[in-house]
Amino acid sequence: MSGDFIISTLKKIIDISIVWAMFYFILKNIRNNVKMTLLFKGIIIILLIKLISSWFNLTTIGLILEYIIMWGPLALIIIFQPEIRNALEQLGRTQLLGRHKTLTIGERENLVYEVVQAIDYLKKTRIGALIIIERDVSLREYIDKAKPIYAQISSELLISIFFPHNPLHDGGIIIQGDKITCAGAVFPTSVDLKIGKRLGTRHRAALGISEESDCIALIVSEETGRISIAINGELSYNLTIEDARDILLEELKPKTELFPEEDSDEDESEIKEGDNNE
Ligand code: ATP
Ligand code: MG
Repeated sequence: MSGDFIISTLKKIIDISIVWAMFYFILKNIRNNVKMTLLFKGIIIILLIKLISSWFNLTTIGLILEYIIMWGPLALIIIFQPEIRNALEQLGRTQLLGRHKTLTIGERENLVYEVVQAIDYLKKTRIGALIIIERDVSLREYIDKAKPIYAQISSELLISIFFPHNPLHDGGIIIQGDKITCAGAVFPTSVDLKIGKRLGTRHRAALGISEESDCIALIVSEETGRISIAINGELSYNLTIEDARDILLEELKPKTELFPEEDSDEDESEIKEGDNNE
């Protein structure tokens, strides 16, 4: 009797958890996709009209809506075929409860390659930049107040964001997974006394957010072209491009790699190195 009860309770918990996870996944995707948000609103409006029409017995509109509701799902599958394929692919490799997908080794190396290419250029041209890579701790509160972007990362996009006359160049950008989620993010500035007086608000903002979360904060100094990285409230100042690349590759490794990579120098050498003309 009690064994049966435990099993049936467990089944119910598993059942509810799966439904909850499905809703979470769907809502998360809807939130990240403009097309999906519009569609979601459309469906809710159609359902509302249907409800009103059946309350007031409006037969013609009710009939039309019935057809829409009957054939709508088929139309949606055709219209959203690429999105559905994408979502299923993501489902395969998402940490279901994570905010962004777990990157494959190739995607991770590409992310580092694009970031390194960008900071190399920014360094040489003395363009200031603040690049924050989110890890386990959510930066949602900063993302919500910044300018949304949500674009696939590329060095060209990174460079253009920080170009001096670009309206988005002020503040920092946040990277989630392999997407640039937002620009113009403002972070709390650190009051750490260890940081030299020479370093201004950009470096203090990087240090501040690294004290508050487990992010990786990259800074390119506008004044000196120097590259620095803040992690866990520690600032590594004036790094070479190679150092910055090695730190990124190391820090972005998942804590628990499903298939641990073998030390492949070949892969790393694919990431082109910039001259460090310091
Ligand atoms: P640099 O070496 O590039 O001059 P710095 O550490 O001396 O950097 P500032 O000269 O004060 O810093 O840099 C100002 C720029 O830093 C601002 O234009 C803005 O883009 C960015 N910044 C300042 N404060 C913040 C903040 N709280 N959060 C995000 N970005 C900030
Ligand atoms: Mg300055």
